Amino acid sequence: MEDDAQLDRIPEKFVAADLSGMRCDGVRCSALTGEVGKHTACGIYEIRPDVCRACMPGGDDCLMARKAHGMVDLPP
Ligand code: SF4
Repeated sequence: MEDDAQLDRIPEKFVAADLSGMRCDGVRCSALTGEVGKHTACGIYEIRPDVCRACMPGGDDCLMARKAHGMVDLPP
């Protein structure tokens, strides 16, 4: 679990007003760059929160997000 000092490194513009997590634009994290389904990247990759570090390519959360965006499952 990250501590406050780690979370404080995330630029304020990407943090939700109530400090509950990342600020989102609709369903999209404000730190996400690029175009979903083509090429995306985390704009704060090195300092991303633990919850993001726990999401692995092909994991349940990943596959749920891909499905929500109409993307095919990853090959096994
Ligand atoms: S890894 Fe986390 S902080 Fe980075 S774009 Fe995705 S949801 Fe946002």
